[in-house]
Amino acid sequence: MPAAKHRGATPKAPVSTFPVAEGEDPWTAEEIAEIREELKADIARMERAIEVAEAGLADLFEEGSEGAGRDPADVGSSNFERDQEMSLAQNSREMLEQAQQAYRLFESGNYGVCEACGQPIGKDRLQVFPRATLCVACKQREERR
Ligand SMILES: [Zn+2]
Repeated sequence: MPAAKHRGATPKAPVSTFPVAEGEDPWTAEEIAEIREELKADIARMERAIEVAEAGLADLFEEGSEGAGRDPADVGSSNFERDQEMSLAQNSREMLEQAQQAYRLFESGNYGVCEACGQPIGKDRLQVFPRATLCVACKQREERR
């Protein structure tokens, strides 16, 4: 996983400088406040999800270590469970990183700019998906890789 880009201590820019896509209305203070709340809620939710997933994993590993002589079918199903928990934890971690990155950009006044092409991500997209740090076109390109 690439390390998060370090942007240093950028002085806080006025929030009204967040870009919008062509034809969109400028951000209002309420909309900005909503995004901030959503990002914070996202971060809290992901942290919680990771905790839960990791607690579940710890349990499963414990069960697994006691599993000598068990029915192979049992072992198989708990391995499956473990894989699921692991990918759940992994997903949450990725989402958490996204949310934290978006929040950092937000706080530094660079929110809403596509990290790949530098174009505005667009207010419509950000309101649906506040964690987005890529515009739709770049996101689709990334997913096709
Ligand atoms: Zn882009």
